[in-house]
Amino acid sequence: MSDTPSPALTRRGLLATGAGLGAAAALSATSSARAQVSARPGAPAINRNLPDVAVVGAGAFGGWAALSLREAGAKVTLVDAYGPGNPRASSGDESRLLRLSYGPREIYTRWARRAQALWEQRQEEFGTRLFYPNGSLRTMSADALAEQRALFDRLSVPYEVLSPDEVHARWPQVDFSEYETVFYEPTGGVVKAREAMVAASEAFMHKGGTMKIGHAKPAAAGGSAPLTVDGEPLACGAALFACGPWLPRVFPELLGDRIVTPRREIFYVGSPIDDHRYRWEHLPNIADSHTYTAADVDYGTKIAANLRDVPMDPDDGDRMASGFLRAQVEDYVARRFPGLVGQPIVATRVCQVELSDNGHFIIDRHPDLPGVWIAGGGSGHAFKMGPTIGEYLAARVLDEPGDSATDALFALASHKARTHE
Ligand SMILES: Cc1cc2nc3c(=O)[nH]c(=O)nc-3n(C[C@H](O)[C@H](O)[C@H](O)COP(=O)(O)OP(=O)(O)OC[C@H]3O[C@@H](n4cnc5c(N)ncnc54)[C@H](O)[C@@H]3O)c2cc1C
Repeated sequence: MSDTPSPALTRRGLLATGAGLGAAAALSATSSARAQVSARPGAPAINRNLPDVAVVGAGAFGGWAALSLREAGAKVTLVDAYGPGNPRASSGDESRLLRLSYGPREIYTRWARRAQALWEQRQEEFGTRLFYPNGSLRTMSADALAEQRALFDRLSVPYEVLSPDEVHARWPQVDFSEYETVFYEPTGGVVKAREAMVAASEAFMHKGGTMKIGHAKPAAAGGSAPLTVDGEPLACGAALFACGPWLPRVFPELLGDRIVTPRREIFYVGSPIDDHRYRWEHLPNIADSHTYTAADVDYGTKIAANLRDVPMDPDDGDRMASGFLRAQVEDYVARRFPGLVGQPIVATRVCQVELSDNGHFIIDRHPDLPGVWIAGGGSGHAFKMGPTIGEYLAARVLDEPGDSATDALFALASHKARTHE
């Protein structure tokens, strides 16, 4: 019996059935001579029938894809210009929200549910806490609420519709009095962001993957290798460019007008020293028409300022938070968290998001470069999905059969040009 998954037990099959990752991960031993960190006993054997793969970008798309590809038996090199969890990357903040409510976009509810199970498995496997289950409170229009309820009922996802008084009775530290109803989703929570990407890349190396710090570029068609790293060709059978907000500059002709990268600012508000009501154990995350927040995991209550789309360069963009948005955050705190008024902003993060025209991911083969794949367009919601995206990307690159409707949704042909608002 082969040590690698049989075609009948493919990763795409696992994704479709919602079965666990363990079967794919439980591959047998030997180490890769190219790994920078010694592969642990039990690391997956290299399956010579699979292409060697280079993955560019150790963020939510590439970091998890590299790990899943290695677990599937491929020989994998993960290249990142600045390193996993670096502060320029969209995956480089402290935390990200995990929610299942996606309105009518059922695919993402399913993927987020799968991702939550994988986050729980992965934190056990990595031996580090990455997922904090605190649920979320959301406000939405009556039509959106009806749509969300119908989908959650059909998929048996738990929820409650609460009045502001009921919210206040459970969580007196938040004020929703200007709304009529609040949607409560007990599933989901907060995931650690940069720590998760560091942990995933460590696991990747311990399983025999090779990590390189370097600047990758696609090579011209017909050359000796599909990409170069710091100018040197890197020979491999497939190259997955998961460069997040850098994708438009890596593939300017193909993606220059399909992904925009506006600036975003995040403020972390500290709690009073003896007041623990804003911690994740005592408070869900919040998304309303003004902004969204994550409860305090260990960095303060996270509040996203509401910014118009100002383009940001992922390499050279200024990462100091603005006074104007600080004032906006303080207004929001006064409205939603009266007990935090006057508390200090203990940290800020400035980042760019990478938006596609329709909010769907962009995952496809490059139309002109054989063996080259593109994955990104996370559109402000991909981080939570990382472990699910990794499974999906591994299956696509390894050419396993899957769901053609999902593939079509993410295809380049489904995405139009878009501009900053
Ligand atoms: C402020 C903010 C809040 C968000 N909130 C949420 C949330 O609550 N929940 C959620 O699910 N999602 C959220 N998102 C979205 C999510 O963080 C992103 O969709 C996701 O992190 C994108 O991952 P990525 O791998 O595509 O890109 P990145 O994380 O940016 O990774 C790309 C990597 O590629 C590397 N790279 C780029 N070009 C090259 C090159 N030429 N050579 C080598 N390396 C290269 C970079 O160094 C980088 O590490 C948020 C995003 C932002 C900005």
